[in-house]
Parts: sequence; C-alpha cells; structure tokens
Amino acid sequence: MKEAAVHVRDLGIDFDELEGDSDFYLPFLDKAEKRIESALLDVSAYAKTQPIDDPKDYELEIVSFPLAVMLVVGTEDSFIKSRYALAEAKRASALLDSEEKEKLLEVANNFGWGARLVSDFSLQPYAFAVSFPVFLRNATGFHDKNWKLVNHLMIDGEVYLTEREVSRLLEEEVRKYIEGRLDTKIKSLPSTIMARVNRLRQLSAEKREQIRLEEMPERVVMDAFPSCIKGVYDRVAAGRPASHLGRFALTSFMLSIGISAEEVFKFFRSVSDFNERMTRYQVEHIAGTRGSGTKYTPPNCATLRTHGICVSPEPDCRGAVNPLICYKRKLKNFPEEKPTENK
Ligand code: SF4
Repeated sequence: MKEAAVHVRDLGIDFDELEGDSDFYLPFLDKAEKRIESALLDVSAYAKTQPIDDPKDYELEIVSFPLAVMLVVGTEDSFIKSRYALAEAKRASALLDSEEKEKLLEVANNFGWGARLVSDFSLQPYAFAVSFPVFLRNATGFHDKNWKLVNHLMIDGEVYLTEREVSRLLEEEVRKYIEGRLDTKIKSLPSTIMARVNRLRQLSAEKREQIRLEEMPERVVMDAFPSCIKGVYDRVAAGRPASHLGRFALTSFMLSIGISAEEVFKFFRSVSDFNERMTRYQVEHIAGTRGSGTKYTPPNCATLRTHGICVSPEPDCRGAVNPLICYKRKLKNFPEEKPTENK
C-alpha cells in the first residue's frame, strides 16, 4: 500500500547503518531473512502465515518487507526471486480472502484498477466490477477455462467478479509488482548482509537439488539401483532383517523413482511377515499421503555411509550426494525401448 511505502521512506533506512547488524536493525533483518527462508522452503505454508497481531510489532512486518526485497535482490538468484514473489503474493491473496469487500477494493485501486463495488442485488454473487483490460492484464496467465473472458459476465466494458476472483487476480498483481521490485541490481552490500545473502543462496541450491531429485524419471530399472539400495532390497527380498534406516532408504527410494505406494506395500507384504497395518502406515507416511504430507527423499550418501549401508560405491557414485543421483546416472546405460512400428 502507498501508505506503507511512504512510512518506510520516511524512516530513511540507510545501507551503511545496516553494517554490523546494528542492534536497531537486527530484529528487522532477522525477520526479513526468515520471510525469504520460509518462502523458499514451502510456498503453501508461507501463504498461511498469519500477520502479526500485536500492534507494537506492525513495524516489524512492514519494515522487514523492503529489507527482504534488498536481500533477495542481493542474491541475484532467479529461483529465489520468483519463489519469493510467488510466496508473498499467495500470502497476500490468502489474507485478502478474510477481508471485507471494502478492503479488497482499496487494495485493488491501490494498483490503479479503478474497480467499483456492485450494489445491484440481482447480480449476486458478483461483488466487483473491473474494466476488461484490467481483467485481461491479470487473467491471461491463468489456464483454467473459468478465467476465459467469454465465461464472465461483461456489461458495458466491465467484467463482474466475485470476492474470491478479485483476491486471486490481486495475487497475480502482487506477484508481478514484487517481481518488478526484484528486477534490479545492488552494486554492493555490507559484509554482514552478504553473510545473510550467502545463506539464502545456499538454501536455494539445496531446495533446487531437492526439486530435481523429486522430478526423477518415472521409469523403474532394477539393474540401475545403486549398490546401497540393491543391498537392502536383496536383504528384504530374502526375508532377512534390515535396519530401520535401510528400510526407510529403500522405501523412499522406490517411491521417488515412481513406484506407487501400493506396489511398495505389496513388495514388503510379499517378502516378510511385517505387520501389515504398520507397513502400510509407514509406506504412506513416507509417500506423504499421511501425516505431515511431506514426501521423503532417500537419506543422503553421507548418512548411508555412517550407518554402514553404503558398502561398495560404484563409478557412477562419484561425487553423488544421494542414491537417486547415482540411479539417474546408471539409468543412462539402459535406454528406453521404443515401440517398434508395424509396417
Ligand atoms: S555412494 Fe551413495 S549411491 Fe553410491 S552406494 Fe554409496 S550411498 Fe549408495
């Protein structure tokens, strides 16, 4: 909002004063870093973050935003930039969902929408009318057919929208606004700020790696299993006991390469006398369909080494941090068979 921007400008934050994490700025910088960190780790969870309730902490919420923008710009990392903009936009949209129509209107017009409230009762559930260029500006990126202009009521160049639709369009407006703010460069930042920037870069690299691992090809080639996983698999398949970590590594590995939770469960059931209910529970928990909803990836090689599960690394393991990487490399030796054409 313009008022918040003016308020921050009036504070006259000086880059030089940020050096050394002065006591005054420390909580603001901590909060700014936390905002980005949470956005990087989980956009959906960030969207659910409630605003600060205590008025004496409003300043923390307001001032930490431009400082977060500064930190994100400092990273020069496009992944952090787009993820942060998306997370803040989703949070704004979630918060707007619980606001009165008048507040939505105020925020929309802050972006120059020229929107108005619809008072005609016969036009319910529509609560807002916006000009169609404003609608198109924000809705063109949405692929759902409900967002096609033809599927909306339009009278005299105005598109009629529900409250939920307005907050969704505002989400897009906020995302583009923040991305615009992040599309700049800062020549230099104080060293203590750079320490925070570097932590965020590291977190971004880890998150990207995690996403890459989760996007494994959904083709299962047993012969490409790395030796650590193959070892546990053989033990379990032979009905011999395997450690808890070994079973966890095997289960999360199988799920990560595209074997369904049901198939993994059937495998364990067929080769052992594990308690069925517990086995199903554990498999579904690791698959993320139960409990916290977190889908687990296999433990890293370092952990498997420490627990004696990595006993005979292979050439494809060189430099790999996770068995999934080794598997992906070995998979290249097993080209996919293309269906033969009938002539
Ligand atoms: S280096 Fe990693 S992938 Fe290779 S055998 Fe050891 S734990 Fe498995």
